[in-house]
Amino acid sequence: MDGIKSRNDYALVHFKRNSMVSNKNPILPVESTCEGNGTMMYCMTSEHAAGEDYTEVARHFNVDVKTGLSHAEAEARQKAHGYNEFEIIEEETLLKKYLGQFKDPLIMLLLGSALVSVLMKQFDDAISITVAITIVVTVAFIQEYRSEKSLEALKQLVPPKCHCLRDGHLETFLARNLVPGDIVHLTIGDRVPADIRLFETTDLSIDESSFTGETQPANKTSAVQGAKINNGIADRRNIGFMGTLVRCGRGKGIVIGTAENSEFGEVFKMMQAEEPPKTPLQRSMDTLGKQLSFYSFCIIAVIMLIGWLQGKHMLEMFTIGVSLAVAAIPEGLPIVVTVTLALGVMRMAKRKAIVKKLPIVETLGCVNVICSDKTGTLTKNEMTVTHIYTSDGLHAEVTGVGYNGNGEIRCNGNLVKDYTHPSISKLMEVSCLCNNAEIENNTLLGQPTEGALLAAAMKMNLYNLRDGYDRLQEWPFTSDTKKMVVKCVPKQGPRQEMYFVKGALERLLQQCKTYYSRGAPLPLTGAQQHAYTLEASRMGVAGLRVLAMAYGPSMDNLMFVGMVGMIDPPRPGVRESVEVLVSSGVAIKMVTGDAEETAAAIGSRLGLYSLGGHTLSGEQLDQMDISELQRIINRVAVFYRASPRHKHKIVKALQNNKYIVGMTGDGVNDAVALRSADIGIAMGTVGTDVCKEAADMILVDDEFSTIMSAIEEGKGIFYNIRNFVRFQLSTSIAALTLITLSTVFGLPNPLNAMQILWINIIMDGPPAQSLGVEPVDHDVIRQPPRRVNDSILSRKLLSNVVLSALIIVTGTLWVFWREMSDNKITPRDTTMTFTCFVFFDMFNALSCRSQKKSVFSIGLFSNRMFLLAVGGSLLGQLLVIYFPPLQAIFQTEALYLTDFLFLIALTSSVFVVTEIRKLIERTSERRRRLFAKEKFYDDHDIV
Ligand code: ATP
Repeated sequence: MDGIKSRNDYALVHFKRNSMVSNKNPILPVESTCEGNGTMMYCMTSEHAAGEDYTEVARHFNVDVKTGLSHAEAEARQKAHGYNEFEIIEEETLLKKYLGQFKDPLIMLLLGSALVSVLMKQFDDAISITVAITIVVTVAFIQEYRSEKSLEALKQLVPPKCHCLRDGHLETFLARNLVPGDIVHLTIGDRVPADIRLFETTDLSIDESSFTGETQPANKTSAVQGAKINNGIADRRNIGFMGTLVRCGRGKGIVIGTAENSEFGEVFKMMQAEEPPKTPLQRSMDTLGKQLSFYSFCIIAVIMLIGWLQGKHMLEMFTIGVSLAVAAIPEGLPIVVTVTLALGVMRMAKRKAIVKKLPIVETLGCVNVICSDKTGTLTKNEMTVTHIYTSDGLHAEVTGVGYNGNGEIRCNGNLVKDYTHPSISKLMEVSCLCNNAEIENNTLLGQPTEGALLAAAMKMNLYNLRDGYDRLQEWPFTSDTKKMVVKCVPKQGPRQEMYFVKGALERLLQQCKTYYSRGAPLPLTGAQQHAYTLEASRMGVAGLRVLAMAYGPSMDNLMFVGMVGMIDPPRPGVRESVEVLVSSGVAIKMVTGDAEETAAAIGSRLGLYSLGGHTLSGEQLDQMDISELQRIINRVAVFYRASPRHKHKIVKALQNNKYIVGMTGDGVNDAVALRSADIGIAMGTVGTDVCKEAADMILVDDEFSTIMSAIEEGKGIFYNIRNFVRFQLSTSIAALTLITLSTVFGLPNPLNAMQILWINIIMDGPPAQSLGVEPVDHDVIRQPPRRVNDSILSRKLLSNVVLSALIIVTGTLWVFWREMSDNKITPRDTTMTFTCFVFFDMFNALSCRSQKKSVFSIGLFSNRMFLLAVGGSLLGQLLVIYFPPLQAIFQTEALYLTDFLFLIALTSSVFVVTEIRKLIERTSERRRRLFAKEKFYDDHDIV
């Protein structure tokens, strides 16, 4: 088993007790091997760091909390401490793992029979069996090793990042590069990257459930923890533990322990010991394997019994029986499934979808509704203000794109600059003050919505308005309040405090008493409010995102100044993806915080909403109970003015209606919905660590179209698994039936034990595996989602299996019977039969590459792995037939070219018949579809 060294082991190996450290302050020191400043470096346990003042901790780590470590010092410490990641120590050598393969009971039995052969002085047999077993075991070992390696590679897909102060600058880099003494900044949504002693906290609460099991986030402080600290981790309130998640607020801290020296080290060790649960598909493959094993054993027992009754040689019957068991039992099936799933996940990663858990691959093919955020996922999140409407009724148009001052603002044909239009300037003033973004060298630092406002201000030469004020307080934008508020005072003149607010129109109007008209406040009447709402909805209908502005001396006495409309163009390719998904039977629903008109306009541009379609607001959602929502939710395409807390209800209602739901999200508050969805999809770029943690899949590029690629891969993988299951089953059944029939009819054995083992290699080995990596047929995305309960072994698949097995058995038996016409069994007879079976199998594999399509239409050469595997198997077969040492082992004889031609002609029949069957099925499906279409037209009187 893999494992890491325990914390104490690590201490013994890497840490030396330092006499400078008193018992009162028992910290684990490590002798620095680095150049650095030549001082010793210390790792502190969280227990002791919690009891120390942070200045003391900073002194231990020789760090200034205001500037952090220097890069040089950090590098030196990193050399001494290693990376902040867990090293998996392989406890088993490769040789040990390889030898472990021989522990399989069937292999032991075969080795037993080789031993008996030695005792009976049948050395040829003994060597043959041993070599054949070695080949079988080696192939199995390589497969298993690959499976392990590909699973390991999966863990590297989402490397955590951190925000760290180095040389006085806040930098973002991979958490593995953190060293003890680093200063880490935490914000809402972050994952704590190492054990840290907090020295500054603002409303900081951290979800430590993975540690303590406590579901409520723990409130954190920077204060020294007194006597209580010994009560356990939960009481160390000034420590942020590695791997926990920041639910709220901000904090800063000193890294006191990385990797194995963190409390997470212990949890990691436990996690390593824990086998990851198998996927439903792996479980059903295990069950299938067990069932097949049971039936195979019964049949083999009967074969051996009959053989014994017929007076056949007992040792030979035993060896054949056990070889048959090795061959017929698809012990490679679960491994091939795992490798296929893991390789599929790697392929998805290349297409920018990171799947965190293998079962998700199966679920992807079943998803029949996707709820997607609008901004950033369906649209580009590249905002540009195009329209301005002031409270006193001025309309202005804005030109230019990007976060820069290129472009102009015109009102009734006149250029708007500086203070030429006071109400527009006032609007810009609020936009700039209530804003956290910066534009530097045409690059935006901050949110696109705020950047767009700054760009508009730049076009009027008002970018620097912020310099005239001091900000006293901020109430950040949240998707629940849908507004942002700042309290400022002017730097010059009377220092009167003023609130500047921007946000959703209806939220602002609720708090406005007056509106700004030609420099003076006028009372905000109902009619005026109605006029603003009408104007906002006009902008919304044009697909603009509307942001309203107000300011005033207090929050319940605000003056409305106007609003801006900004475009956020749909992402290219989304419309096409929506169309493909919808036509395959996947419903797409938009969940957005934007207004109804904007959401509907974007929705209809993307083809997921049509005029007269159903929309539902967050408020309406709040008022409905779940059963009411269930009744209407199937028809709703757009959820507007919704916030993350509504998403969970949406997921639940859809799931109650038996949908398999994919839900996207990026913020901390999306975590619950992402967890409850069948597939939680987090945004890779803008998503927080919390939501990435909760998600099953991460979209590296935040693009909706990536979801479609992932579904396509998911479906493709499932089809591929079906293909090799079909291949393995038909080979297995054919081999069993062949031996059973020849035994029942009193014929000699058509294949010897070594030949059967060779067939096993083909069945369980590379050819089967290569079917699993068949390139995804792009048509699969157009197939309807799979029903969750659909078994992989559908009736159609089974009938295909039986048909192929029947052809293989009939053909092989016929060749055997034909060769045996002299009533004597010679090596040539078995070589012909053996080669016949192998060729049948190769042609069978070829037709298994697709269940529906002709091999010619998917491309004979499109699966390179398959070509290599089949080419290799055929080459191996030729060696077995012509290479004298292998001839001796497999008891074969050289064949003539005419024999080959005959065998190829015969064995291609399995391919021809299955291709004809596919053709018939395709034709009848086309007819059925045509008929359904005509019926639809007739029923709807469409000419
Ligand atoms: P999504 O589609 O991902 O839910 P969204 O952009 O549609 O995102 P929100 O970001 O919640 O939804 O925005 C909802 C409304 O809140 C917007 O229509 C706008 O009026 C207002 N708003 C958006 N961003 C800000 C901001 N930074 N400050 C103030 N108000 C904002």
